[in-house]
Amino acid sequence: MNVRRRLIPAAAVAAVAALGAGTLSGCSGGTGVVANTSKFDVVASFYPMTFLAERIGGEHVRVTTLTSPGQEPHDLEISPRQIAQLEESDAALYLSGLQPSVDEAVAQSPVRTKIDAARLTTLEEHGTEVGGHAAGHATHEDGEHEDGEGTGKDPHIWLDPVRYAQVAEGVGKAFEKADPEHAADYRKNTAALAGELDALDLRFRRSLAHTRSKVFLTTHAAFGYLAERYGLTEEAVNGLDPESEPSAARVKALERTARADGVSTVFYETLVSDRTARTLAHDTGLRTDVLDPLEGITDRSRGKDYLAVQEANLKALRQALDAK
Ligand SMILES: [Zn+2]
Repeated sequence: MNVRRRLIPAAAVAAVAALGAGTLSGCSGGTGVVANTSKFDVVASFYPMTFLAERIGGEHVRVTTLTSPGQEPHDLEISPRQIAQLEESDAALYLSGLQPSVDEAVAQSPVRTKIDAARLTTLEEHGTEVGGHAAGHATHEDGEHEDGEGTGKDPHIWLDPVRYAQVAEGVGKAFEKADPEHAADYRKNTAALAGELDALDLRFRRSLAHTRSKVFLTTHAAFGYLAERYGLTEEAVNGLDPESEPSAARVKALERTARADGVSTVFYETLVSDRTARTLAHDTGLRTDVLDPLEGITDRSRGKDYLAVQEANLKALRQALDAK
Protein backbone atom coordinates (compact mmCIF):
# COMPACT_ATOMS: atom_id res chain seq x y z
CA MET A 1 0.00 0.00 0.00
CA ASN A 2 2.93 2.32 -0.43
CA VAL A 3 3.25 4.72 -3.34
CA ARG A 4 4.56 2.06 -5.68
CA ARG A 5 1.62 -0.15 -4.95
CA ARG A 6 -0.92 2.53 -5.77
CA LEU A 7 0.30 2.31 -9.37
CA ILE A 8 -0.91 -1.28 -9.74
CA PRO A 9 -3.55 -1.29 -12.49
CA ALA A 10 -7.08 -1.52 -11.15
CA ALA A 11 -7.65 -4.71 -13.13
CA ALA A 12 -4.83 -6.46 -11.27
CA VAL A 13 -6.21 -5.35 -7.94
CA ALA A 14 -9.64 -6.65 -8.91
CA ALA A 15 -8.08 -9.99 -9.90
CA VAL A 16 -6.42 -10.28 -6.52
CA ALA A 17 -9.64 -9.35 -4.77
CA ALA A 18 -11.45 -12.07 -6.73
CA LEU A 19 -9.21 -14.68 -5.12
CA GLY A 20 -11.03 -13.91 -1.92
CA ALA A 21 -10.08 -11.88 1.12
CA GLY A 22 -9.29 -15.04 3.07
CA THR A 23 -6.31 -15.77 0.84
CA LEU A 24 -4.70 -12.51 1.82
CA SER A 25 -5.52 -12.32 5.49
CA GLY A 26 -4.50 -15.95 6.02
CA CYS A 27 -0.87 -14.98 5.52
CA SER A 28 -0.58 -12.69 8.50
CA GLY A 29 2.28 -13.51 10.80
CA GLY A 30 4.08 -15.58 8.16
CA THR A 31 7.63 -15.11 7.04
CA GLY A 32 6.97 -15.20 3.31
CA VAL A 33 7.80 -12.52 0.81
CA VAL A 34 5.73 -9.38 1.17
CA ALA A 35 3.20 -9.38 -1.63
CA ASN A 36 1.73 -6.32 -3.23
CA THR A 37 -1.52 -6.15 -1.37
CA SER A 38 -4.07 -3.46 -0.75
CA LYS A 39 -3.36 -3.85 2.93
CA PHE A 40 -1.13 -1.87 5.22
CA ASP A 41 2.04 -3.99 5.13
CA VAL A 42 3.84 -4.18 8.45
CA VAL A 43 7.16 -5.91 9.02
CA ALA A 44 7.46 -6.86 12.70
CA SER A 45 10.83 -7.78 14.19
CA PHE A 46 9.76 -10.57 16.56
CA TYR A 47 6.69 -12.07 18.21
CA PRO A 48 5.69 -9.38 20.74
CA MET A 49 5.74 -6.82 17.91
CA THR A 50 3.80 -9.17 15.62
CA PHE A 51 1.10 -9.61 18.24
CA LEU A 52 0.67 -5.84 18.58
CA ALA A 53 0.58 -5.30 14.82
CA GLU A 54 -2.00 -8.06 14.30
CA ARG A 55 -4.24 -7.05 17.18
CA ILE A 56 -4.15 -3.33 16.43
CA GLY A 57 -4.13 -3.61 12.66
CA GLY A 58 -6.81 -6.29 12.51
CA GLU A 59 -8.18 -6.85 9.04
CA HIS A 60 -6.39 -3.85 7.55
CA VAL A 61 -2.83 -5.08 7.96
CA ARG A 62 -0.67 -7.79 6.58
CA VAL A 63 2.04 -8.64 9.09
CA THR A 64 5.33 -10.33 8.26
CA THR A 65 7.66 -11.39 11.08
CA LEU A 66 11.44 -11.26 10.66
CA THR A 67 12.13 -13.79 13.45
CA SER A 68 10.66 -17.22 12.75
CA PRO A 69 8.79 -18.97 15.56
CA GLY A 70 11.27 -20.93 17.65
CA GLN A 71 14.24 -18.82 16.61
CA GLU A 72 16.17 -17.02 19.35
CA PRO A 73 15.46 -13.38 18.46
CA HIS A 74 18.78 -12.01 19.76
CA ASP A 75 20.74 -14.13 17.29
CA LEU A 76 18.79 -13.02 14.25
CA GLU A 77 20.82 -12.09 11.20
CA ILE A 78 18.67 -10.40 8.62
CA SER A 79 18.80 -11.94 5.14
CA PRO A 80 18.94 -9.94 1.90
CA ARG A 81 15.45 -11.23 1.16
CA GLN A 82 14.20 -9.78 4.45
CA ILE A 83 15.86 -6.46 3.67
CA ALA A 84 13.89 -6.48 0.43
CA GLN A 85 10.74 -7.25 2.44
CA LEU A 86 11.43 -4.23 4.61
CA GLU A 87 11.79 -2.01 1.56
CA GLU A 88 8.47 -3.20 0.19
CA SER A 89 6.58 -2.65 3.41
CA ASP A 90 4.60 0.34 4.65
CA ALA A 91 5.84 0.17 8.23
CA ALA A 92 8.50 -1.48 10.35
CA LEU A 93 7.69 -2.28 13.98
CA TYR A 94 10.71 -3.23 16.07
CA LEU A 95 12.35 -2.86 19.47
CA SER A 96 15.73 -1.19 19.28
CA GLY A 97 18.43 -2.64 21.50
CA LEU A 98 17.23 -6.22 21.21
CA GLN A 99 18.34 -7.26 17.73
CA PRO A 100 21.30 -5.27 16.37
CA SER A 101 20.82 -6.74 12.91
CA VAL A 102 17.24 -5.43 12.78
CA ASP A 103 18.24 -2.01 14.13
CA GLU A 104 20.75 -1.63 11.35
CA ALA A 105 18.43 -2.87 8.61
CA VAL A 106 15.64 -0.53 9.70
CA ALA A 107 18.02 2.43 9.97
CA GLN A 108 19.18 1.86 6.39
CA SER A 109 15.75 1.06 5.00
CA PRO A 110 13.66 3.60 3.09
CA VAL A 111 10.47 2.31 4.78
CA ARG A 112 8.31 5.34 5.46
CA THR A 113 6.98 4.51 8.92
CA LYS A 114 9.51 3.24 11.45
CA ILE A 115 8.03 2.41 14.84
CA ASP A 116 10.53 1.76 17.61
CA ALA A 117 8.78 0.22 20.62
CA ALA A 118 11.68 1.27 22.86
CA ARG A 119 10.66 4.90 22.30
CA LEU A 120 7.04 4.29 23.30
CA THR A 121 7.67 3.44 26.95
CA THR A 122 10.40 3.90 29.55
CA LEU A 123 13.43 1.64 29.65
CA GLU A 124 15.67 1.00 32.62
CA GLU A 125 18.92 -0.68 33.37
CA HIS A 126 18.52 -3.79 35.45
CA GLY A 127 22.12 -4.26 36.41
CA THR A 128 22.84 -7.31 34.31
CA GLU A 129 22.96 -5.64 30.93
CA VAL A 130 26.10 -4.36 29.34
CA GLY A 131 25.68 -2.76 25.96
CA GLY A 132 22.96 -5.03 24.67
CA HIS A 133 21.74 -8.56 24.93
CA ALA A 134 24.60 -10.83 24.05
CA ALA A 135 27.31 -8.90 25.91
CA GLY A 136 25.62 -9.24 29.27
CA HIS A 137 27.17 -12.43 30.55
CA ALA A 138 30.79 -11.25 30.51
CA THR A 139 30.46 -9.60 33.92
CA HIS A 140 28.78 -12.52 35.61
CA GLU A 141 31.84 -14.60 36.34
CA ASP A 142 32.30 -13.24 39.85
CA GLY A 143 28.89 -14.51 40.83
CA GLU A 144 27.89 -11.22 42.42
CA HIS A 145 25.38 -8.59 41.52
CA GLU A 146 26.43 -6.35 38.69
CA ASP A 147 24.26 -3.41 39.68
CA GLY A 148 25.35 -0.20 38.06
CA GLU A 149 27.97 -1.80 35.87
CA GLY A 150 25.82 -1.93 32.78
CA THR A 151 25.45 0.91 30.33
CA GLY A 152 22.73 -0.70 28.20
CA LYS A 153 19.01 -0.76 28.93
CA ASP A 154 17.04 -3.93 29.51
CA PRO A 155 14.97 -4.44 26.33
CA HIS A 156 12.43 -6.92 27.81
CA ILE A 157 9.67 -4.34 28.21
CA TRP A 158 6.91 -6.53 26.73
CA LEU A 159 6.86 -8.81 29.76
CA ASP A 160 5.49 -5.97 31.87
CA PRO A 161 1.82 -5.66 30.86
CA VAL A 162 1.78 -1.96 31.79
CA ARG A 163 4.75 -1.07 29.58
CA TYR A 164 3.42 -3.32 26.83
CA ALA A 165 0.10 -1.42 26.95
CA GLN A 166 2.01 1.86 26.62
CA VAL A 167 3.75 0.48 23.55
CA ALA A 168 0.38 -0.65 22.18
CA GLU A 169 -0.99 2.90 22.53
CA GLY A 170 2.01 4.26 20.65
CA VAL A 171 1.73 1.68 17.90
CA GLY A 172 -1.98 2.49 17.53
CA LYS A 173 -1.20 6.18 17.07
CA ALA A 174 1.53 5.40 14.54
CA PHE A 175 -0.84 3.18 12.54
CA GLU A 176 -3.50 5.93 12.58
CA LYS A 177 -1.02 8.41 11.21
CA ALA A 178 0.43 6.08 8.57
CA ASP A 179 -2.92 4.71 7.38
CA PRO A 180 -5.50 7.40 8.26
CA GLU A 181 -8.22 5.75 6.22
CA HIS A 182 -8.57 3.09 8.93
CA ALA A 183 -7.75 5.28 11.93
CA ALA A 184 -11.08 4.64 13.66
CA ASP A 185 -10.55 0.88 13.60
CA TYR A 186 -6.98 1.19 14.83
CA ARG A 187 -8.20 3.34 17.72
CA LYS A 188 -10.90 0.85 18.59
CA ASN A 189 -8.54 -2.17 18.39
CA THR A 190 -5.91 -0.39 20.47
CA ALA A 191 -8.44 0.43 23.18
CA ALA A 192 -9.63 -3.19 23.26
CA LEU A 193 -6.09 -4.53 23.57
CA ALA A 194 -5.15 -1.96 26.21
CA GLY A 195 -8.21 -3.09 28.17
CA GLU A 196 -7.07 -6.71 28.03
CA LEU A 197 -3.57 -5.75 29.14
CA ASP A 198 -5.03 -3.72 32.02
CA ALA A 199 -7.01 -6.76 33.11
CA LEU A 200 -3.90 -8.92 32.87
CA ASP A 201 -1.98 -6.42 34.98
CA LEU A 202 -4.71 -6.47 37.60
CA ARG A 203 -4.67 -10.28 37.76
CA PHE A 204 -0.88 -10.28 38.17
CA ARG A 205 -1.10 -7.66 40.91
CA ARG A 206 -3.83 -9.45 42.85
CA SER A 207 -2.47 -12.95 42.38
CA LEU A 208 1.07 -12.09 43.42
CA ALA A 209 0.24 -9.74 46.28
CA HIS A 210 0.52 -12.41 48.98
CA THR A 211 3.23 -14.96 48.40
CA ARG A 212 5.52 -16.83 50.77
CA SER A 213 8.59 -15.87 48.72
CA LYS A 214 9.25 -12.84 46.53
CA VAL A 215 12.31 -14.23 44.76
CA PHE A 216 12.44 -16.35 41.62
CA LEU A 217 15.34 -17.88 39.70
CA THR A 218 15.51 -17.85 35.90
CA THR A 219 18.05 -18.96 33.32
CA HIS A 220 17.40 -15.88 31.21
CA ALA A 221 17.19 -12.42 32.80
CA ALA A 222 14.13 -11.41 30.83
CA PHE A 223 11.75 -10.71 33.71
CA GLY A 224 13.27 -7.65 35.36
CA TYR A 225 10.40 -5.32 34.45
CA LEU A 226 7.79 -7.90 35.38
CA ALA A 227 9.49 -8.53 38.73
CA GLU A 228 9.71 -4.84 39.50
CA ARG A 229 6.08 -4.24 38.56
CA TYR A 230 4.82 -6.84 41.02
CA GLY A 231 7.28 -6.37 43.86
CA LEU A 232 9.33 -9.48 43.07
CA THR A 233 13.04 -10.08 42.67
CA GLU A 234 14.46 -11.91 39.70
CA GLU A 235 17.73 -13.75 40.23
CA ALA A 236 19.20 -14.67 36.87
CA VAL A 237 21.34 -17.76 36.69
CA ASN A 238 23.54 -16.48 33.92
CA GLY A 239 22.47 -12.98 32.99
CA LEU A 240 21.11 -12.14 29.61
CA ASP A 241 22.78 -14.72 27.42
CA PRO A 242 20.45 -17.74 27.55
CA GLU A 243 23.05 -20.16 26.17
CA SER A 244 25.94 -19.50 28.55
CA GLU A 245 26.86 -21.73 31.49
CA PRO A 246 26.93 -20.27 35.00
CA SER A 247 30.23 -20.46 36.86
CA ALA A 248 30.66 -22.62 39.96
CA ALA A 249 30.83 -19.46 42.06
CA ARG A 250 27.58 -18.26 40.53
CA VAL A 251 25.87 -21.57 41.27
CA LYS A 252 27.04 -21.34 44.89
CA ALA A 253 25.71 -17.79 45.21
CA LEU A 254 22.37 -18.81 43.75
CA GLU A 255 22.18 -21.76 46.10
CA ARG A 256 22.65 -19.39 49.05
CA THR A 257 19.98 -17.07 47.65
CA ALA A 258 17.61 -19.96 47.11
CA ARG A 259 17.97 -21.11 50.71
CA ALA A 260 17.76 -17.63 52.22
CA ASP A 261 14.76 -16.53 50.16
CA GLY A 262 12.75 -19.72 50.16
CA VAL A 263 13.09 -20.29 46.43
CA SER A 264 11.50 -23.52 45.23
CA THR A 265 11.92 -23.43 41.48
CA VAL A 266 14.44 -22.76 38.72
CA PHE A 267 12.66 -21.38 35.70
CA TYR A 268 13.81 -22.02 32.17
CA GLU A 269 12.40 -20.93 28.83
CA THR A 270 11.06 -22.77 25.84
CA LEU A 271 13.34 -21.54 23.05
CA VAL A 272 16.64 -22.80 24.44
CA SER A 273 17.97 -25.91 26.15
CA ASP A 274 16.89 -26.49 29.75
CA ARG A 275 20.26 -28.10 30.55
CA THR A 276 21.47 -25.24 32.77
CA ALA A 277 18.24 -25.18 34.73
CA ARG A 278 18.21 -28.95 35.20
CA THR A 279 21.84 -29.05 36.31
CA LEU A 280 21.25 -26.23 38.75
CA ALA A 281 18.03 -27.79 40.04
CA HIS A 282 19.82 -31.08 40.56
CA ASP A 283 22.72 -29.41 42.39
CA THR A 284 20.46 -27.33 44.61
CA GLY A 285 17.49 -29.64 45.12
CA LEU A 286 15.04 -27.26 43.45
CA ARG A 287 12.34 -28.11 40.94
CA THR A 288 12.18 -26.72 37.39
CA ASP A 289 9.35 -25.06 35.52
CA VAL A 290 8.82 -22.87 32.46
CA LEU A 291 8.67 -19.09 32.63
CA ASP A 292 8.23 -18.01 29.04
CA PRO A 293 9.95 -14.80 27.91
CA LEU A 294 7.52 -14.75 24.98
CA GLU A 295 10.19 -14.13 22.40
CA GLY A 296 8.40 -16.54 20.09
CA ILE A 297 5.33 -18.78 20.08
CA THR A 298 5.85 -22.43 19.17
CA ASP A 299 4.01 -25.73 19.65
CA ARG A 300 5.71 -25.98 23.03
CA SER A 301 4.37 -22.63 24.24
CA ARG A 302 1.79 -22.84 27.02
CA GLY A 303 -0.71 -20.79 25.07
CA LYS A 304 -1.41 -19.58 21.58
CA ASP A 305 -0.72 -15.89 22.08
CA TYR A 306 0.80 -13.27 24.36
CA LEU A 307 -2.16 -13.11 26.73
CA ALA A 308 -2.51 -16.88 27.15
CA VAL A 309 1.23 -17.40 27.74
CA GLN A 310 1.32 -14.58 30.28
CA GLU A 311 -1.54 -16.31 32.13
CA ALA A 312 0.57 -19.48 32.14
CA ASN A 313 3.52 -17.47 33.46
CA LEU A 314 1.34 -16.09 36.23
CA LYS A 315 0.22 -19.59 37.20
CA ALA A 316 3.85 -20.82 37.26
CA LEU A 317 4.93 -17.85 39.38
CA ARG A 318 2.08 -18.33 41.83
CA GLN A 319 3.09 -21.93 42.32
CA ALA A 320 6.81 -21.19 42.62
CA LEU A 321 6.28 -18.34 45.08
CA ASP A 322 3.61 -20.20 47.04
CA ALA A 323 0.89 -17.60 46.55
CA LYS A 324 -1.99 -17.44 49.04
ZN1 LIG B 1 15.70 -11.97 25.89
